Amino acid sequence: MNCAACGSTNLIEGSILDNSGSENKYFKPKDVSAFKAAFGYGVREITALGCVHCGNLQCIVNFIDEDKRNHQNFDGRQPDLLERIESE
Ligand SMILES: [Zn+2]
Repeated sequence: MNCAACGSTNLIEGSILDNSGSENKYFKPKDVSAFKAAFGYGVREITALGCVHCGNLQCIVNFIDEDKRNHQNFDGRQPDLLERIESE
């Protein structure tokens, strides 16, 4: 992986901490409710990468194969989660 800002390959993997020291390591798609996310449904872990060369911080969402299938099968507006569940 290269830095999106400078192209360097000197990236360090880590996580993002909030002020309380707890890791902020999940990505919640906009169409997943806060209630479902509280139980871990529909959220995905993120990996943070810091560039040693320029200090740029970038994150990777660790999507699962099901996410890729659901989101890559459609052109245009993405159907919301309920539409996707009902179509299966
Ligand atoms: Zn960089």
